[in-house]
Amino acid sequence: MLRILLALAVSVSALAQDAKPLAALRLPLTIADVKTPEVKLDFEGDVSPETKAWAEEAAVQVREWWPQVVRMLSTQEFKSPEQFVLHFKKELKVPAYRTPEGLFISIAWITKRPDDFGMVIHEMTHAIQDYRRTPRDAGWLVEGIADYIRYYHYEPESPRPRFDVTKASYRDAYGTTAAFLAWAMHKYDRRLVRELDSALRRNDYTDALFEKITGKTVDVLWAEFIATKKN
Ligand SMILES: [Zn+2]
Repeated sequence: MLRILLALAVSVSALAQDAKPLAALRLPLTIADVKTPEVKLDFEGDVSPETKAWAEEAAVQVREWWPQVVRMLSTQEFKSPEQFVLHFKKELKVPAYRTPEGLFISIAWITKRPDDFGMVIHEMTHAIQDYRRTPRDAGWLVEGIADYIRYYHYEPESPRPRFDVTKASYRDAYGTTAAFLAWAMHKYDRRLVRELDSALRRNDYTDALFEKITGKTVDVLWAEFIATKKN
């Protein structure tokens, strides 16, 4: 009897999976000819051979990953710039940041954390997101998408950033939002990040988009996600 019940339970969960449209089950890519920008390096003052070697490796990562990230986002209308400059500065208040002039990277940081190429991919993703008018309250999502690309595509083998489930929110940005997005994609619809990116590009993102795509509000989704962390 137990076996029959178990078999029933398995087939019911298989049916629930089947209820999703096939398009929700596969990861869509933008199929386009991607022009990868010419990557240039710029150094503040004299730098060590180690810093030069790191910078050259970072340039290789950008050349290899620019087209990959363009394909993962909703970039039908996106035009890559001709040039992309990695500026290496002696000290910054943060490891790195992006402006329309390129990426600014702290030499002090990469000296301490030479394994942090993921930071370059995060900032490079911002250059591809290139949202012209991000709604003021959607910054958490912009950072969450950049970390989703970083942690779930560029370095899926690295440990996930930890967070306190009793205090966390999907609006915490970065690794927490990235983990939430990856979970919601797996559970509900693999088009989610792409649709969110598309709305941010059109400047019409609202939290209601989560419900439109997954059938559940962002707060309900978050509660379900947190419940999986408490088990
Ligand atoms: Zn960022």
